[in-house]
Amino acid sequence: MFEVIYVEEHMFQHPKVKEILAKFPSSEVKTIHKIEDVFGRVKKPYLQKRTNLNLFLGEKKGQLVKPAPPAYGLSGEPHFYFVHAYNCIYECNYCYLQGYFHSPDIVLFLNHEEIGEEIKAIAQKCHEDNPDKHVWFHAGEYSDSLALTSLSGELNHYFKLFKELPYARLELRTKSVNIKELLKENPLSNVITSFSLSPAQRVKLNDLKTPPLKARLQAIGELHKKGFPIGIHFDPIIYDDHFVETYEELIDQLIEVLPSEFIEYISLGVVRFTKEVFQKVQKNYPDSDLLAQEFVRSFDNKIRYSRPMRLWMMGKIKDQLMSRGVAEEKIYLCMEDTDLDPMVKERDKE
Ligand code: SF4
Repeated sequence: MFEVIYVEEHMFQHPKVKEILAKFPSSEVKTIHKIEDVFGRVKKPYLQKRTNLNLFLGEKKGQLVKPAPPAYGLSGEPHFYFVHAYNCIYECNYCYLQGYFHSPDIVLFLNHEEIGEEIKAIAQKCHEDNPDKHVWFHAGEYSDSLALTSLSGELNHYFKLFKELPYARLELRTKSVNIKELLKENPLSNVITSFSLSPAQRVKLNDLKTPPLKARLQAIGELHKKGFPIGIHFDPIIYDDHFVETYEELIDQLIEVLPSEFIEYISLGVVRFTKEVFQKVQKNYPDSDLLAQEFVRSFDNKIRYSRPMRLWMMGKIKDQLMSRGVAEEKIYLCMEDTDLDPMVKERDKE
């Protein structure tokens, strides 16, 4: 799977590094001083991930836990995100990662203890300041939270941590059906696995190389039966002529495996791009029906549907959800007018 595995020199004796290297005996292993010395230094085309993918193993430096952008999750509560990986094995054709790093290679940061310490300190401070509110931590901002957990093996660490922090919430956001590692844990009410879903045909057209909708719904059903709390993201919502019917069908399929009262929350976000990512989509996926959509360039240069269109689409789905018994307070509109800028600023700082 990985042609070359780059390991930071001080990490060679780390048990996880040894374990990962043992899983890929035919990969070439190279020692590096720091990940940043090599990763993204020479631009590597995004679509090379199909044929040539390298892996980097090291430690995340700097601020490990950061405030999330506005409108990131359920409102009224503080949200933070932490980064333990860069890039993703899937290939959604709208993915902002294609315009984000200079390389699609996978980076795994293995200093989860340090990340955990920062999470703990922030959670305790927020709890002292506001004992009535939960504080949220989101994993997988630049990757998928579950796809590589069989390799990276960090879930047990975070389950132990959040068991000690009942006033904090952890969100593991995914399109993966790799729930094997999750099922080794006892469910916790404050560790929420959230699945991004789209109608089946949209998954085929846009979520390239991801598990099909049916498999994701099965994973949701299995986790729900075993008591794991589940959140849902309908994001990105993409318009087509069958938009209303396909979302109706999707909601029916979802409620069948996860009755509405068990949905922790559901976010709605309409497809959006920075100018840079849109250019990458044009280059990487010139035949995609995404490019035939009626987007406008917003005042802030982002590419979206017109505001009335976005509001109509989200309103329509919100009505559909409520008519199927999802409580209004569990539905939130994601990233409307505030999207990627804060993340881009963070990237530029790193
Ligand atoms: S699953 Fe998420 S991170 Fe991975 S390619 Fe798709 S949009 Fe990008």
